[in-house]
This record gives sequence, C-alpha cells and structure tokens, in this order.
Amino acid sequence: MPYKLFIPGPIAVSDKTLRAMAQPMIGHRSPDFVSLYQSLQPDLQALFYTSDPVYLSTSSAWGVMEGALRNVVQKKVLNCMNGAFSDKWNDVALRCGKAAGALRFEWGQPVDPAALRRELATGGYDAVTLIHNETSTGTMSDLPAIMAVLREFPEVFSIIDTVSSFSVLPIEKDKLGIDILLTGSQKALALPPGLSIFSVSKRALARAAQARDRGYYFDLVEFQKNHENGMTPSTPVIPLIYALQSKLEDIRAEGLEARYARHLRLNETLRAWGRAKGFKLFPAEPYGSRSLNCFANTLSVDLPALNKVLKAKHHLVIDGGYGKLKGLTFRISNMGDETDATIAALITALDSALAETPKRAT
Ligand SMILES: *Cc1c(COP(=O)(O)O)cnc(C)c1O
Repeated sequence: MPYKLFIPGPIAVSDKTLRAMAQPMIGHRSPDFVSLYQSLQPDLQALFYTSDPVYLSTSSAWGVMEGALRNVVQKKVLNCMNGAFSDKWNDVALRCGKAAGALRFEWGQPVDPAALRRELATGGYDAVTLIHNETSTGTMSDLPAIMAVLREFPEVFSIIDTVSSFSVLPIEKDKLGIDILLTGSQKALALPPGLSIFSVSKRALARAAQARDRGYYFDLVEFQKNHENGMTPSTPVIPLIYALQSKLEDIRAEGLEARYARHLRLNETLRAWGRAKGFKLFPAEPYGSRSLNCFANTLSVDLPALNKVLKAKHHLVIDGGYGKLKGLTFRISNMGDETDATIAALITALDSALAETPKRAT
C-alpha cells in the first residue's frame, strides 16, 4: 500500500509531476533541450528574485553546498551552526581543506545577527554559510537581518541554503545581496530528489574564476559558460527538468503570493493543532519554520509506534526526530502541494493515531 510522506523531505510528488517525468528523452546538446532550459529561466529568476542566471545541477543540494565553498572561499569561511545541516557544512568545509570558523548556537535557536557581526568584525573571513531554515530543528533564522549584517562586510561572500524554505516565502536574492542562493528539488518544490537549483552573483563568478582548485563538476565558471548556450556542463537529469517545468507551471498558475499565503496558513493550522494537543514548538515561536513544524515530544508519545499506526491505518508518515533529537521531537511538513483539505485529513489521522498510541515507557 503506498503511503504519503509528511516528513520534511523528500515530500509527496503529484501525479502531474510524475507524468511530466515520463516524457521521451532528448539530447542534452539538442535545440530541444536548449529551448526547454531557456524557457525555465524567467520563472526561475522570478522565484529567486534575481536578474542573474539560475543554474541546474544534477546533484542533491550538498553538491552545490560543497562546490560553493570550493569556488569562493580563499581565506576562511565562517559557518553559522544551529542544527544538523549547518553543523555538517562546517565539517564539509574542513574536508575540502578550507579554513573554517564555527559560529555555534544551541539547536532550536536561530542564528543571531549581532553575534555574526561580532565574529566577522574580528576579520579574516571571506565567506559565510547560512542555512535559512534548519530543517533538523524546524528553525528559521531572520534572513533579512542577517543579510543586513553581511552587507556591512563587503569582502565576505554569502552562501545561503534555502533547501527547505525556497518558494515557501519570498527570498529576494538581489535585493538582499546574496552571492550564492541554492535549493534542492525534493523539499518545498515537491519534486523527486536529484536536482539542485542555484543562482550566483556576478562578483562570486569573478571570484570563482580566480580559484585554482575549484574542480570541474561544480565549477561555477562552467555553469555560466554552458548557461550562455542554454545548457548544463554535463548531462543533466532531464526527467527532473521536465518535472521542474511542470512545477513552474503549477506555481505560475497559483501565483507566488497565494503560494506563500497557503504555506503560512497550513503551517499555522498544524502549529495550532500541536499547541491544542499540549505539544510545545521546539524552536522559539517567532523562529518556528513556515515549511514544517518541529514539536518537542512533551507528551512522551512513543513516536515509532505512532508512525506505525499512521502508516498502517492512514497511509502516511511523519518524522520522528532528526539525529540527536530522535524521539525527543517530531516534525510535520507542510511543504509542496498541501491544501486545507489534505492538512485537515492529516490532522484527523493524527488525532486518531495518537488516541491509540501508548506513552513511551520512561
Ligand atoms: C535536506 C537538506 C539539505 C540536504 O539536501 P540533500 O538533498 O540531501 O543534499 C541541506 N540543507 C537543508 C536545509 C536541508 O533541509
């Protein structure tokens, strides 16, 4: 029996998207591909709020997250760390042989712009990594406030991960002065995994051109050169690009403002449900993510048992906590194509499953 994913990625993919993927292949150097690639740019640029090109990488987001470091970090990167993904980015920088500073916050806390300013003022950094929406803890940092700090340090390049917040709310790349803005396919865009989508400022491209050890697969200069011909550096995952084309149609039909409003409304509905049940939001309320809710398991529910019931009887699954928060928190996604009706059905299922799930033995 198939079941529906309410975990914060990968998330459920619509039948329309799945059908879009099942189209015949075209050559990636053919005029058909060039017109497909070029036709996506206006909608992608609108979503990125940018006049720069938007590149398509056949990789998950980590490919571009690692590649960005190799292209722009020459002296030292400062990694803002407040959860599993942002903590790992520091490890990845070190594995790439980069000098990397760690600006640590408790899991569930947002990145503090004042602390970032203090650390950057010590000097020596030429790049910062930030995860806008820490999916592991459901915590969303204040991106405009953080970018205001980064604009005080023009020698520092900003690499911003919006993997689980992209298209959930406006993220205005050019206006905020973001150098590299990246996302992945399997979170809020509700596509299958395997495609990373990103946009790069002109000054970051110029910076990349000076980096001698930037490699090939994630070389930003290669992405730009190929983009100018309506292509990608290597053979791209064409089925996912068909899926992206279909999704961009959906987004255009709904309208960006309506899409943002829908995500906010469904997120609030689930947050209110959790509160009414007696669960506490794990992050501080003002920093709660708008694409998922991460609740502290304040009622000591046996989460694996709950998911067993949800899967067997209601054909859906939620997430039982990430990494060191496993069992202590649970996460429910409201990304993608969810509607008032699907979230209402989810809540009915959650209520029913909770009623028959024992408390965890303590
Ligand atoms: C899921 C996720 C990633 C990792 O994406 P992959 O597709 O596994 O490479 C990175 N950052 C955030 C915030 C995520 O939610």
